Amino acid sequence: MLHKPSPLFDSILARVSALPVIDTHEHMVGPEYCVPIKEPISALSVGYIELDLVSAGADQDTLQVLRNPDVPTEKKWPVFESIWNRIQHTVNARVTRLILQDIYGEAEMSLAALIRVREQMNSLRTDESYWRIMEEANIRMILTDPLGRPQCDFGRYLSGEQTFPDHWRVLVSLSLFHVVAHHPQSARDWEGMQQIGNWADRHITSLDEFLESVFDVLQRAKERGAVGLKDQSAYNRSLDYEMVPRSDAERIFNRMLGNPRTVFGWPESKPLDDFLFHQYMRFARELEFPVQIHTGHIARQYHRVDRANAAYLRPVLELHQQVRFDIFHGNWPYMGDLLFLARNYPNVSLNCCWLYILDPWYAEEMLQRAILTVPHSKVHGFGGDYGDRQYGDMPEYTVAHLKIARQVIASALTEMVERRWMEESEALDIAADWLYNNPNTYFGLGLEPVLGSSCV
Ligand SMILES: [Zn+2]
Repeated sequence: MLHKPSPLFDSILARVSALPVIDTHEHMVGPEYCVPIKEPISALSVGYIELDLVSAGADQDTLQVLRNPDVPTEKKWPVFESIWNRIQHTVNARVTRLILQDIYGEAEMSLAALIRVREQMNSLRTDESYWRIMEEANIRMILTDPLGRPQCDFGRYLSGEQTFPDHWRVLVSLSLFHVVAHHPQSARDWEGMQQIGNWADRHITSLDEFLESVFDVLQRAKERGAVGLKDQSAYNRSLDYEMVPRSDAERIFNRMLGNPRTVFGWPESKPLDDFLFHQYMRFARELEFPVQIHTGHIARQYHRVDRANAAYLRPVLELHQQVRFDIFHGNWPYMGDLLFLARNYPNVSLNCCWLYILDPWYAEEMLQRAILTVPHSKVHGFGGDYGDRQYGDMPEYTVAHLKIARQVIASALTEMVERRWMEESEALDIAADWLYNNPNTYFGLGLEPVLGSSCV
């Protein structure tokens, strides 16, 4: 628990825990893509906890063994136990512990507990358990970015072959359209670029034709129900998108057209990527797509967090005033920069996805400082941000994250009431806005609003 027990905290936590939630960011594809995992250490050590395992010293071979569901639990246990002992107090380990407790009824991590878990595992990761877990957590709607996942294909989405549950909404991954990108389907090479052309029924022979194709594709995605764009280019480049003369961008683009074996690289393709990003923001304006952007910490070791600071986006936010930007992850660890942006720019909102399991106390402080500095209508309170490339969706991780999020939100609000900044009923209304009403309005989801102070 992240707050000392008190009658006020207990009361606020109970009410916050009863609130329905719009989950504003996942990488979920659907229950049919869940891979059953029959071995408990594999099932309990995926997702962000892998970063802690590596940080504590697990090398890639060890990680492969721990992930491999065909290696028996008894054989993995000595290695896992020694690493677990080092990471057991991190917030990612808390997610694993909550899954152990809430899904499997085990209070402690031990070999005996894992063997009991193994007996129950057949019933998890079925369609039925998937929907039950999400319903019990009161998640009413999910905004997902699945289109870069191996289980998903953007072309099939555009043609209507790939569909998602009725109460989900899709965001289009801008990774597909960056030339500085890792994704094999992206515009980073000839094939990726012609793939985008194919989706728009065009063979690309110029920068103009490429841009027309991207716009057509985004327009079709909107017709299919997409509600925005999602950018995670901070994984591949710095967020300083400069204004580049078209001729500079076109020169780089034409190099590819002149030699189809070219793969665009960093940093020499930065001017083209910068130019395209600004074009995509104009498309977002025309299509009225909000743009979600990853900022701050990255789920990868040895990265450069400084170049992912949202402060780099300032010129983009200032130029594209008619585009709404939903900035992710609390910009961890650069809280002050993000609060400045959200306070100063009417087109910036704070999205707390992933944040509670990045650093729950930072999240608590950010929410409190946001109450004091940013209109509370500009905060989107939760996004689980889970999805595994190998095992597919992991709803049990999302709901464990949500449980921690509700505790952090309750703790933040309790302190604001204790300091007499607001009444308890006002705090509960803010919680309902963060978790439900704000994303409902922002993404035009059309659900009935809820009143936090009357939710029990
Ligand atoms: Zn994400």
